[in-house]
Amino acid sequence: MSKNDELLARRSAVVSQGVPRATPLTVASAHGATLTDLDGHEIIDFAAGIGVMNAGHCQEPVVRAIREQAERLLHTCFHIATYEPYVELCEKLVALLPHGEKTKALLLNSGAEAVENAIKIARQATGRPGVICFTDAFHGRTLLGMTLTSKVGYKAGCGPFAPEIYRLPFPYHYRYGDGLDMDAFVARELDRLRDALHSVVAASDVAAVLIEPVAGEGGFVPAPSAYLEGLREICDEHGILLIFDEVQTGFGRTGAWGAYQRLGVVPDISTWAKAMGGGLPISAVLGRAEVMDAVRPGTLGGTYGGNPVACAAALATIRFMEEQELPARAQHVGGEIRRRLERIADRTTLVGDVRGIGAMIAMELVEDGDPARPASTVAGEIAQACVRRGVLVITAGTYGNVIRILAPLVITDAELERGLGTLEEEVLARTDAATAAH
Ligand code: PLP
Repeated sequence: MSKNDELLARRSAVVSQGVPRATPLTVASAHGATLTDLDGHEIIDFAAGIGVMNAGHCQEPVVRAIREQAERLLHTCFHIATYEPYVELCEKLVALLPHGEKTKALLLNSGAEAVENAIKIARQATGRPGVICFTDAFHGRTLLGMTLTSKVGYKAGCGPFAPEIYRLPFPYHYRYGDGLDMDAFVARELDRLRDALHSVVAASDVAAVLIEPVAGEGGFVPAPSAYLEGLREICDEHGILLIFDEVQTGFGRTGAWGAYQRLGVVPDISTWAKAMGGGLPISAVLGRAEVMDAVRPGTLGGTYGGNPVACAAALATIRFMEEQELPARAQHVGGEIRRRLERIADRTTLVGDVRGIGAMIAMELVEDGDPARPASTVAGEIAQACVRRGVLVITAGTYGNVIRILAPLVITDAELERGLGTLEEEVLARTDAATAAH
């Protein structure tokens, strides 16, 4: 039995099947954009630990910062004794990601926890209970995170869910566009929101609108800038806080530190995790200072939130990203990916849409070019075939029919070319099979 198979057998024996297993890969080590499995096979990483390893795996300055911090101080709990890495990281975050004139921050452990705390802040700041969220959203696996998440596969059988959550369609033009041009589509979707404030929940009961500026797990769907501008106006008109969940879009992925900076709309509150920690579990809530301080002392935080080692990893990761100019490199990497995926799309009706911003690019697979007929099985087969050939590709989308590329931003042009070549062959092979079957 290979070492891979042996580990997978041990896993099956003791790990709950509730924990997803998207691929049969194992991993023993990783550097840059390459993983090595237990049997010594190398795999090109197009997943980056689901958007975490934007700066690449095991970068020397990050590993060194972790080691040095671990030797100095592992934990006291920031509630008990103030330590510098927490404060320094917050200083860095509010400088990179300003929300108006003065910004404040809070550190936690995971994306879901950041979302939970963003809602707690919005409710305290407004004194209102309601939250408006969207279809195709993913906000985590805690009770409130799961309630806010759209795809039922993540939550079936896990209710009862949290109250006071209201959902509207995400402005997903390819799926829900009904043949409208973008301007007409955005106008219709904003009217839908205005109407919901009369027909679904009173504006005076809504604390926040929570949206991913680019739906991540939902299939890499950028919200149109005009839609976000409209949301901003409606929120301002009604005293509703606008929250952007930047957990997957943050830290260079979209070609900027935050997608909001690309899309030109500043939220009141935002959530960050994943790539911020360079592989260690850490997350943040940022927001306008007066909102972040409109909370009762003692209502935010947690034992491990902003752990010193995780803060040191985040600071070193951000410094590395600045030195290597990774947000700018995302534009280059994303440009290459987009060009290649568009070339594939030109050759097959299986690819209905190629979209995304920066290096957050995906293609949506559909049957016969019809947005209403997701080609979920084929997308899964293509991803698995790529994995067997040494390229880690993962899917996304409510129907699992979106192939997304989330390569570390340090990926070399040669690795990118090899990975995209494999993906192209596998998509076109399925196209040939489909054509032959007709
Ligand atoms: N929000 C978004 C947009 C995400 O993509 C994710 C995870 O994929 C989360 C929240 C949850 O983050 P975590 O898994 O760290 O709890």
